[in-house]
Amino acid sequence: MSQLRAAAAGGLRRSGRRPVPPARQSRKGASPRGAPAPAPPPAQHLFADPVEIEALRGSLLAWYDKCKRDLPWRTLAATEPDADRRAYAVWVSEIMLQQTQVATVIDYYNRWMQKWPTLQALAQASLEEVNELWTGLGYYSRGKRLQEAARKVMSDLAGRMPRTAEDLQKLLPGVGRYTAGAIASISYGQATGVVDGNVIRVLCRLRCIGADSSSPAVIDWLWDMANALVDRSRPGDFNQAMMELGATVCVPKAPLCGECPVKQHCRARRRQLFGKPAPVPDVEDCGAGGCPLCPPATDPWDSSLGVTNFPRKAAKKQPRVARTATCVLERRGCHGGPEYLIVQRPSSGLLAGLWEFPSLPLAQGLQEEKQREVLADHLRAWTGWPVAAGGLRLIGEVVHIFSHIHQTYVIYSLPLDGDVTLDPALSPSRWVTEQEFHASAVSTAMKKVL
Ligand code: SF4
Repeated sequence: MSQLRAAAAGGLRRSGRRPVPPARQSRKGASPRGAPAPAPPPAQHLFADPVEIEALRGSLLAWYDKCKRDLPWRTLAATEPDADRRAYAVWVSEIMLQQTQVATVIDYYNRWMQKWPTLQALAQASLEEVNELWTGLGYYSRGKRLQEAARKVMSDLAGRMPRTAEDLQKLLPGVGRYTAGAIASISYGQATGVVDGNVIRVLCRLRCIGADSSSPAVIDWLWDMANALVDRSRPGDFNQAMMELGATVCVPKAPLCGECPVKQHCRARRRQLFGKPAPVPDVEDCGAGGCPLCPPATDPWDSSLGVTNFPRKAAKKQPRVARTATCVLERRGCHGGPEYLIVQRPSSGLLAGLWEFPSLPLAQGLQEEKQREVLADHLRAWTGWPVAAGGLRLIGEVVHIFSHIHQTYVIYSLPLDGDVTLDPALSPSRWVTEQEFHASAVSTAMKKVL
């Protein structure tokens, strides 16, 4: 069996796998104390057969040509003759698509590209403008980093985008391995794979990978597989096809295996249809124990889950619980309608540079009376007005879930008769009507508060 494994690994190399970089060798190769390197995963987790690889590429690309969704960034990538503009168009889409659904992104993308069709235009925008357009898309640091990177391309790289995945990752802040691979393969035709959530799901199912798919060792193997599989003549289309398959067919909960263009290559489906194969472990199943890519012995294949046995992830860390007191200061505007005071958050950290109602993080376990007092103190120091704790009206609570924070806003209101201006040294502030509030760079959480 070991000979067969070695042959399988050799087959993968022949099919185009990059040499293992030193960093990987130290993680999965020989231990620092010189212990023997762990064996590569058994053959059935790999793509070892060049004939099968070719067949899979062909089936996937034919399906993609017929079924792909018509998306604005795909049109731009296919029609834009200028390589820098093409790379920029793909880059913007990839950043927006991180953590956000395609259907939501389309409108944001079109508005963004209309406003800043080139890197040069984006580099000249203010953070305020970027945040305003990004409002509602979430994870605001993405827009900020995109703009910072555009400025860097203009100032340090003479406006020319790096031309390989390696340089994109090395030279552009906020561009990780996935984004670099996507830009390089789609915009420049570099034969490099990509691994995102959709690709992880497809690969894990194709090859029955049930080890924790968020672990560095498994992620490394998935990158190797993606690099081995990517079509050499149409890498951008191939990568998009893998992601499209994960987004539309090989979906998390109820995959449409019957319609899948690569079902004949899918080991999870085979296992679902035919059960655990007879004991020929070297070609069909790892057998018990020791495999770095099989499900752990403590959590084996569950036949009621079928192909959705894969992928598997370690349990997610619980989000941090936080409470914030927020005060909606309101006055009559010159046209008789209400106006609200908003202040700008610091330029780094969570929701950097966005506007919000004056807010104050609360210590855990504070009683309502005490909350009110600390908020009144804070407003007094901020506005110079004699704000009394008893004048603050408790309105209720709004819960907003950030990726890593379970945030509760405790909302108070305070009607004011006169004008209030905050010390600009403390924080920029302004009065806005409801309409202006919605047009400002405010977070979704603050819209809920209003
Ligand atoms: Fe995913 Fe099913 Fe296709 Fe396998 S056959 S890749 S599980 S959709």
